[in-house]
Amino acid sequence: MGSIRGRKILNSRGDPTIETEVSILGKSGAVTGFGVAAAPSGASTGVHEVIAFPKGGVDKSLESLEDVAQELEGMTFEDLASFDEKCRELDGTKDLSKIGGNTIVALSMAMAKAMASISGGPLYKYLLIGESPRIPYPLGNVLGGGEHAGPTAPDIQEFLALPLGAESFHQAAFGNAKVHKKVKELILKKSKTFTGGKGDEGAWAPNLENQEALEIVAKACEEISEELGFKIKPGLDVAASSLYDEESEKYEYSREEESRDAGEQIDFILELINTYNLTYVEDPIWEEDFKSFAEITKKVGQECLICGDDLFVTNVERIQKGIENNSANAVLIKPNQIGTLTDTRKAVELTKKNVGIPVMSHRSGETPDTTIAHLAVGYGCPIIKTGVVGGERIAKLNELIRVEDELGEEAQMGEI
Ligand code: PGA
Ligand code: ZN
Repeated sequence: MGSIRGRKILNSRGDPTIETEVSILGKSGAVTGFGVAAAPSGASTGVHEVIAFPKGGVDKSLESLEDVAQELEGMTFEDLASFDEKCRELDGTKDLSKIGGNTIVALSMAMAKAMASISGGPLYKYLLIGESPRIPYPLGNVLGGGEHAGPTAPDIQEFLALPLGAESFHQAAFGNAKVHKKVKELILKKSKTFTGGKGDEGAWAPNLENQEALEIVAKACEEISEELGFKIKPGLDVAASSLYDEESEKYEYSREEESRDAGEQIDFILELINTYNLTYVEDPIWEEDFKSFAEITKKVGQECLICGDDLFVTNVERIQKGIENNSANAVLIKPNQIGTLTDTRKAVELTKKNVGIPVMSHRSGETPDTTIAHLAVGYGCPIIKTGVVGGERIAKLNELIRVEDELGEEAQMGEI
């Protein structure tokens, strides 16, 4: 291969992250392939994720990248899997704590783009699983709290909209944008002092209690569904690991000064699903409790997607444990939780075969990198969770509008 470079860039929170460039040389020595990619970062990270950056942060990671670049220069790789395997080997740790999972994921994504550019086609085609690409439905964060907003915002991290009745991605993405606007209107009716503040992902962050917020989002989904003539339904990312206190073994809702034990948490979530007709609930239970997850999944059947994020961390061993326990019917897929696209692909394949729906996802700290848009289409994930507004979120949504446009008649939405 040719050269590898890395640089420290800004993410959407103004924190440093890493961007890598990979070039591939042909037999004549000329550059035949090139790719550039940047890593996202989470705020409510799962404890079982790979380490984003080693001690010493992005600077230390950049130093390690120089050594990696020297090792890799002159080597040839037949495919992305062998490149990813070599990167893992050079790190040498299971949690990628030497080079950093974020650096390795940026390398893997840049290499995929470089290889795709040699093949001359778009990235999703190079990554394709199965016969044909699928366009995902956008799952969008319209109101939020938890670790993504200030202390007076709701405890629940994300109140989401999922436009499952849309006929195209274009229609769906604009539907979510309308829900986002409607939510602001409804917040202002309830909370006169609302300043228009937003959390990390561009979702409104009002001073409201959890159920007041859910009421508003459910109403906004209903009104916009009626206006547009297709169904948009509400969902949640509870991010329950952030609420769980291991000492008291309770979920602490500080906004409402409520504590709930495992049984009460299960009942609370089931009540929310029934009352608000929720179509999607992510991390309703903290990351170590596969059994309580299973209780919720069993009770809702096919009526609602119960998705594991911190529970699975895109890791096939943890997804396997979820399969044994029947914990969930959907899996959140975040490439930087596991470190390489090859591992991400394995997580998607295992999910499709034995769990249900893989949901491709952004992180709360993002860059305008659009790789996950192509991963969703190529891997056939029926849903992509990537926000509704804000440049770094819009970059992915607009890329999917482009892909849908390019596919024309061939564009098919994923199946849920
Ligand atoms: P994170 O949050 O990127 O801060 O981890 C997103 C999520 O929990 O889905
Ligand atoms: Zn989550």
